[in-house]
Amino acid sequence: MPFYSFVCKECNEKQTHSLSISDYTDKKYENLECLLCRKKTLNRVFEKIFSKVQKSSAELIHEITESVQKTKEKIENGDTHAIRDIYGEVE
Ligand SMILES: [Zn+2]
Repeated sequence: MPFYSFVCKECNEKQTHSLSISDYTDKKYENLECLLCRKKTLNRVFEKIFSKVQKSSAELIHEITESVQKTKEKIENGDTHAIRDIYGEVE
């Protein structure tokens, strides 16, 4: 089963969870609990070294492209949260 990297939004604990592809596409990872604080606040992260082992670069590029596309759409739609996440607060 492939492993995916997550960071807990609550306690910042970095961790990996194994999920089957179907679990992943069903978004079952949204129900995963943090290994440390047991909250369901895991954020999917890309880890360079980790991904190199577990995924081909083509798969990784595809995922990053999708993620960038979604971010781009948010910014184009004027999502100020997304804009602040990326560029920081406007002074
Ligand atoms: Zn946590």
